[in-house]
Amino acid sequence: MNEPKAYDQLLSEYRELKHRLEEANETIDAIRNGKVDTLVVRGEDGENQLYTLKSADQTYRVFIEKMAEGAVTLNEDGIILYSNSRFARMLDSSLEKVMGVAFETFVHPQLKEEFLNLFKRGWDADCKDEIVLNTANGNAVPFLLSCTTLEFDEGMALSIIVTDLSAQKETQQQLRIKNDQLEEARSATEKLNNELETLVRARTQELFASREHFRFLANNIPQMIWTNLPDGSVNFNNQQWYDYTGIDIDVVSAFSWKLVIHPDDVAETLRRYRSALQTGHTFEIENRYKRASDSTYRWHLNRGIPLYNEDGEITLWVGTATDIEDQKRAMEKKDEFIGIASHELKTPLTSLKGYLQIIDNYKGETVPKPVKLFINKATDAASKLQYLVNDLLDVSKINAGRLEYQMNRVGVRELVDSCIDNARHIYPLHHFEIQNIEDVFVKGNTERLEQVLMNFISNAVKYSQDSKHIIISGQCHHDYVRVSVTDFGIGLTDEQKDKIFERFYRVEDKKFLASGLGMGLYICSEIIKAHSGDIGVISEFGKGSTFYFDLPLL
Ligand code: ADP
Repeated sequence: MNEPKAYDQLLSEYRELKHRLEEANETIDAIRNGKVDTLVVRGEDGENQLYTLKSADQTYRVFIEKMAEGAVTLNEDGIILYSNSRFARMLDSSLEKVMGVAFETFVHPQLKEEFLNLFKRGWDADCKDEIVLNTANGNAVPFLLSCTTLEFDEGMALSIIVTDLSAQKETQQQLRIKNDQLEEARSATEKLNNELETLVRARTQELFASREHFRFLANNIPQMIWTNLPDGSVNFNNQQWYDYTGIDIDVVSAFSWKLVIHPDDVAETLRRYRSALQTGHTFEIENRYKRASDSTYRWHLNRGIPLYNEDGEITLWVGTATDIEDQKRAMEKKDEFIGIASHELKTPLTSLKGYLQIIDNYKGETVPKPVKLFINKATDAASKLQYLVNDLLDVSKINAGRLEYQMNRVGVRELVDSCIDNARHIYPLHHFEIQNIEDVFVKGNTERLEQVLMNFISNAVKYSQDSKHIIISGQCHHDYVRVSVTDFGIGLTDEQKDKIFERFYRVEDKKFLASGLGMGLYICSEIIKAHSGDIGVISEFGKGSTFYFDLPLL
């Protein structure tokens, strides 16, 4: 067992070590400041070795000291003989902790072999490599180590210039990231471009096909077709248009249509067309087109609808002009026939009703009960026929503009009361409720207004099978009175509502068939128009309807 050291002995060893440390520090300072050219290092074997810098002058060492790079000198065992303070700072350390230490100590464990290889090669020729060093703060920092040999009087030493690569690496890394991003963006753009090209090609083909399709269709239907730009100028007419109008395709202008439309129809056509352009609603008019082959004007139904793009803007107006001349003639003939037939029917029907009345009132002999019943039924049938004939006569008079009105002061309350009395008599099973009848007056023809109200009432009865409740009201709003009839019957769809005031229009519902010819509401609307009033309906399908007319108050 070793004897414990005496206090004095320990003290003297401590002093010796302290002295050597101070000496070492002084030496380091002296080297750095250029005061010393020679250096003694004790080897592992305990022998001192002497190192002298060959061209050691102060300027040179000061220069090394100020360098931005680290500079170290190693002996053949890889021990750092000399280091500038920059290198120590690079390792977050101090000169004392760097000098006299094997350089390998600072090398990242995984790169030791690489360093040793560089160290070995450095003795033979100048060489460099990137090596990661571990700093005292535990950071792994990349450095470029450039080796070159230095010749001392006593032998050779290896000098390593240490360049911090972290900024460069960072820049490289950033550059790589930017490059990758650029590459990504480039390939995305290329992909997009390819997709776009394919899309454009497909769209072009589609467009071409659809244009050809459109042309084919347009040139092979009997109607004339035109398309206009949103500003209203014509940009296409089909072959039929050129054939019919006789205008040459080479001399056609955006406003050639004015030459082919009847002069009396131009103003109204323009008015409606401009209004359609402004509102975006369907353009529709019946106007006359001049046929080039025989210079006659023929009636056409001219309709134009707007085409919208995805942003809801009108891009084109597509129009058709359909020849309705033959239809018009047929209608005229039909109207003429209705006029004559109803007129011819009226006289015998009036006689028939007269005779039936005489028979009914005959007091001479007792009429057997069954015969009385038949007389009543015949009278009912004749009355229905008379209503029908009267309606037909009214329609033909309206067509000819011959429906006459003797205008008087009409009391709304009396008008409604009289119709309700009548209705209660005809439809004894129904409940007629009167609401808000105001004591006001209008200018009108009593018989015709009664005809309208009775038509509303008889329709209300006819088109509400399950409900016997009907409400009649006459209420004032500002300067007009609204007379209305509400039922709780089958009601109307929006589409039906738009059409029921047209001549001969009837709702074709097989579930619910009621007799009629679709003339009543047409006549009503013409009568109300002649009274400067409005007619309309508010209705919900399956729930019921309110038919009304508004007349200006006197
Ligand atoms: P019609 O002789 O067919 O009754 P109208 O001109 O009086 O002719 O009515 C036209 C159409 O309007 C009818 O066929 C019917 O379909 C519909 N209509 C009229 N009144 C009503 C109502 N109160 N409820 C539901 N539908 C009605």
